[in-house]
Amino acid sequence: MRFGQILPLAAFAVESAVAAAVCKTSPLDTSSLVKKLSAGAYILNSTSAAFADAAARWSSLDAPVPNLIVVPATEQDVVQTVLFANKQNVPFLATNGAHGSVTSLGGLQGGIEIYLTQLSSIDISADGTTVTVAGGVHSKNLTDALWAANKQTVTGTCECVSYLGPGLGGGHGWLQGHHGLVSDQFLSLNVVLASGELVTVSETSNPDLFWSMRGAGHNFGIVTSVTSKIYDVEFPNYAIQTVTFSGDQVEAAYTLANELFLPGGVSTQPATFSQWSYWFFEPELDASGPVLQFYLIEEGVDAVNATVVDAFNAISPLSSVPATGTYLDLAAWTGIDISAGPCQKIGNAYPRFPIYLTQYDPAAVRNAYTLFKEMTTANGSLFTGSLFLFEGYSQEGVKAPGDDATAFAYRADNILGAPMIAYTPDGTAALDQTAANWGTQMRNALWAGASAEGSVGSYASLHSYVNYAFGDETQDSWYGEDAWRQTKLTSLKKQYDPKGVFSFYAPIKA
Ligand SMILES: Cc1cc2nc3c(=O)[nH]c(=O)nc-3n(C[C@H](O)[C@H](O)[C@H](O)COP(=O)(O)OP(=O)(O)OC[C@H]3O[C@@H](n4cnc5c(N)ncnc54)[C@H](O)[C@@H]3O)c2cc1C
Repeated sequence: MRFGQILPLAAFAVESAVAAAVCKTSPLDTSSLVKKLSAGAYILNSTSAAFADAAARWSSLDAPVPNLIVVPATEQDVVQTVLFANKQNVPFLATNGAHGSVTSLGGLQGGIEIYLTQLSSIDISADGTTVTVAGGVHSKNLTDALWAANKQTVTGTCECVSYLGPGLGGGHGWLQGHHGLVSDQFLSLNVVLASGELVTVSETSNPDLFWSMRGAGHNFGIVTSVTSKIYDVEFPNYAIQTVTFSGDQVEAAYTLANELFLPGGVSTQPATFSQWSYWFFEPELDASGPVLQFYLIEEGVDAVNATVVDAFNAISPLSSVPATGTYLDLAAWTGIDISAGPCQKIGNAYPRFPIYLTQYDPAAVRNAYTLFKEMTTANGSLFTGSLFLFEGYSQEGVKAPGDDATAFAYRADNILGAPMIAYTPDGTAALDQTAANWGTQMRNALWAGASAEGSVGSYASLHSYVNYAFGDETQDSWYGEDAWRQTKLTSLKKQYDPKGVFSFYAPIKA
């Protein structure tokens, strides 16, 4: 099922305006809520035909399981739903692109999902410098709307992921080399707090909460809209070189990537350049083991820098294929457009095990590759469809504001690595545990390299991106080990969410 097909849900609004009837089998009496919701809002209970679609998740591992889904049409509907849930003392969770996969989400068993899909407006300011994006907008909708006006901003790269899900955890995207993270574009946010109060959060109105919304935002409220910076499209054209290696080229390929992009652990990638690599087992490409597929992506050119391409071609890839297009082609080129696998919800589990790195440690990468090969190619492997990914965006714009600028803790690192274990659950905890063991071992292989004494950028704690987190990492690992960060976040959590109602996504302890 394509994610886009969920949109006809809007048709339900009509029948659900009489939501009290819809909810009659729910243990919750929603009549007091229904009276307060706007005409466009609706409620689904588990017997509603559209409930399963609205509750569907990208990853089925430890997914939240609601009793009831409220689909607000206005920000006041979100306010009323939070007030109702608080009064009834039932847990609630905002849901959006449904691509969150941290296992703490599974803590919602029963309770209310507040599905933001109807909060979908996108308004560009008259002077063309900002856009106000409603809380339920997805990346593709925003990219397309801005593109039509010859504008752009930093969004997540995957078309079916929401704009705010990534942004509240920092948010990586193709344009971060120019402008910084997704959240670095935020100017102000309308937020429904744990108390149900609706506030506007900005640098001037509430600097501490504004700081926390940009990296740890899932812990502090439901964003009904955000106003972000936008930019004129300067370089519409892009080029990609897709270079595929067999596994015996691990050391050669990643040593070269260090030399070209990360000499001495310092990112020298210009704002116009991204280098990603995926590992996957595709016997038609290489029956002997998973391939390493590099995506060398450059903005504003019709062919990727010849020095870079020649250097990769010189180490004997299986293939090296150029293509040209525009910014709008990037998602399809990297397999994360609306029609690609990651945008389908087919009941599979996809735990990831992220780690930030300053550069590639070829020996550690080899160890991770050996494990990945064993996992994907073993006879009868249940994990053959897994993917290992390294995202090497330009870091220029990310480092510019300074390490302490927001709650996102890892501006000093350069690469985001993560094995993603793909499998069809069999209903046993044993299979989930086996998958987790593989993921942990692979991440530990990279971590061993990153934490080794004398390694470039050596660090002892695990740096993990909260938005890719598996769920067993520590709070330090999600939000940074600096004591001042933890103290600040804990104190803000105590102030704004003392009861921990926003504790299903990489929770900060109050
Ligand atoms: C295929 C794929 C591609 C990805 N690509 C990127 C990428 O390019 N860059 C990147 O940084 N990350 C990326 N991610 C990770 C992504 O940031 C997280 O998975 C994120 O949680 C997804 O948000 P969602 O709204 O789609 O998911 P959901 O599961 O609906 O939401 C995730 C969390 O965000 C909260 N949330 C969502 N919207 C709001 C809101 N308006 N107000 C308050 N809380 C809200 C939810 O309550 C939930 O806790 C990707 C993930 C996948 C699976």
